[in-house]
Amino acid sequence: MEQILIIEDEPSMQTGLRDNLEIEGYEVTVVGDGKEGLQTLVENPFDLVLLDVMLPSMSGFDVLKQVRSRGIKVPVIMLTAKGEEIDKVLGLELGADDYITKPFSLRELLARVKAVLRRGQGTTSSGTGDVVIGELTIDFATYSARRGDATVDMTAKECEVLKHLWDHRNQTVTRDQLLNQVWGYDENLSTRTVDNFILRLRQKLEPDPARPKHILTMHGTGYKLIP
Ligand code: CA
Repeated sequence: MEQILIIEDEPSMQTGLRDNLEIEGYEVTVVGDGKEGLQTLVENPFDLVLLDVMLPSMSGFDVLKQVRSRGIKVPVIMLTAKGEEIDKVLGLELGADDYITKPFSLRELLARVKAVLRRGQGTTSSGTGDVVIGELTIDFATYSARRGDATVDMTAKECEVLKHLWDHRNQTVTRDQLLNQVWGYDENLSTRTVDNFILRLRQKLEPDPARPKHILTMHGTGYKLIP
């Protein structure tokens, strides 16, 4: 049974995460304090850590720094609050494997947990591996995608658009850039084509496609993917 450590001080988050991960068959340990979390991690082996940023006694970043400086390679998913995009970047630089922004859907969290655990098991010998964007888990090597347990049909072009956004995640990608990179120069195509593909991708990966939080419109320029 895979062991997950949750370091999170908010009682409702603790309960929600524990209950749902246990239902999925994981063995869950919950700690509500940074220092105690670090100690627990140093003393016990875990397969995955869900690590909150704002914690009593020691921040999630400091816990992560300490863990990595001690050579502990456990996969870590940071739990960041809305609007803390700088935190996400910092977390990844410090050695987090992924991050998820509160509030998140349960399905999105479970997809990320599964993807990170799978990566940790070294099943990605192709060097690509699964990527989680919103509620979609996608393997760019095979162009296959899942949402929860359901297979999601993706066309090759949809995958290529998403791949280009993924390769430039957290950056603005212009419509022209997408047109040139994905379709190549074709005078019959307009940037409208790009917009249509973005709409379809949002239907597939956004929890609420009308209020996208993963493929953002950058007005007057293009799009930005926030995984
Ligand atoms: Ca907190």
